[in-house]
Amino acid sequence: MDPTPPTPIDPSASSSSSSSDPSPSPGHAIVCGAGVIGACTAYFLAKKGVRVTVVERCSVACAASGKAGGFLALDWCDGSPLGKLARASFLMHQRLAAELDGAHRYGYRPLDTLSLVVEEPRSGTDNHHAGGGEVVNASTPSVLPSWTDGPVKGATPIGNQTTTAQVHPALFTQAVLSAAEAEFGVRVIRGEVEELRLDPHRMKLLGVVVDKELIPAEVAVVALGPWSSNLSSISDLTRISGRKAHSIVVRPKSSQDLTPHALLLRYKTREGKQLAPEVYPRPTGEVYVSGMSEEAELPATAHQVKPRNEAVAMLRRVSETVSSHLQGAELETAQACFMPLSEDGRPLIGKLPNVEGAYVATGHGYWGILNGPATGAFLSELIVDGECKTLDLKYFDPARFFRNNARRKDCFL
Ligand SMILES: Cc1cc2nc3c(=O)[nH]c(=O)nc-3n(C[C@H](O)[C@H](O)[C@H](O)COP(=O)(O)OP(=O)(O)OC[C@H]3O[C@@H](n4cnc5c(N)ncnc54)[C@H](O)[C@@H]3O)c2cc1C
Repeated sequence: MDPTPPTPIDPSASSSSSSSDPSPSPGHAIVCGAGVIGACTAYFLAKKGVRVTVVERCSVACAASGKAGGFLALDWCDGSPLGKLARASFLMHQRLAAELDGAHRYGYRPLDTLSLVVEEPRSGTDNHHAGGGEVVNASTPSVLPSWTDGPVKGATPIGNQTTTAQVHPALFTQAVLSAAEAEFGVRVIRGEVEELRLDPHRMKLLGVVVDKELIPAEVAVVALGPWSSNLSSISDLTRISGRKAHSIVVRPKSSQDLTPHALLLRYKTREGKQLAPEVYPRPTGEVYVSGMSEEAELPATAHQVKPRNEAVAMLRRVSETVSSHLQGAELETAQACFMPLSEDGRPLIGKLPNVEGAYVATGHGYWGILNGPATGAFLSELIVDGECKTLDLKYFDPARFFRNNARRKDCFL
């Protein structure tokens, strides 16, 4: 039990994420987790004048935020609850790139994006590389870049340089956090977040317990990705799970022919297995290939997440099949990570119900790199101004689980 006497609840502080009463500016905010969501939240909170400490157990962008593709799309979430968030975030990425990506520190660039149908030739046939980008039954053959000279059966443009782009996600996350430290005095510390410490009535945050010590704070933001529901404040409300996915990074001998394209494949192996890998050349000369997602148990820390050799070998095979330019390329990285998923597929961005000062930002699934900036900016608006006027965050309100689960309600009363 916490020996600290209960702190009286500030009657002027908002208890609902949609309240329009302005909150007093929070004194000290602790952002738990230095993935893309934690980094962006720290950046925008500090930009609004809040004193921010970020707590990370392993290293900045050590989990999905460092191992993702970094693909960004303006309008692919249109028609879903994510639509407005994604559009806003895509445009924020453009602005942040102008501000922070000087000398292309994190490789932001617009892309053309293609959906490709690729079929491995069956054993015994000798049509492995069609050569010169020859396409069978392609809807628009001319769109195929010359380096995709494998057995492509169809190519369809699904994004262009105004609607799709990329960043290097690890470098992006590090650049945002470095800017937050240098420009706004954010402090990043190494430690394990163990608990959000609440007052005895469980109505107000007192601080965050890190490595058994209480760090006092008026605000805490849980951005621990798939580990978020290791904290009882989150698991009492809902469960955040993780889905494992693999990726490799290869460096071809020459990258000068690799154009700024993202390739989303429907890929059939010679054994008849259907896969959905993705291939992204990066401006740094490397090529990122991902796919092979699966159910797996989430290890205790990000550094304990290991790739399966068979999955890595398959991604290698995909890269070499799609492009002869990638044959014999040096395998720089073989990795796996867990994408954080909420129970209903929508991220949680907002205040924990009935607890003053406790917030969560997680469950971003496939689109955490895209939606990091808008999540950070809009959550900061909610925390500092008491309301997010730029975007209605109702779809992402963590209280939706509170309403849906009467049994778990008891935990907060
Ligand atoms: C293979 C793959 C490809 C992807 N590609 C894309 C893409 O192209 N575009 C896109 O928009 N999204 C993509 N995503 C999704 C995106 O990567 C995630 O949604 C996003 O990175 C989640 O960020 P996060 O900050 O919530 O979590 P994480 O990156 O998991 O960060 C959580 C952090 O919290 C830390 N932590 C955990 N527990 C503790 C603790 N107790 N104390 C202190 N620190 C702790 C961890 O060490 C970690 O650093 C991809 C995901 C995968 C798996």
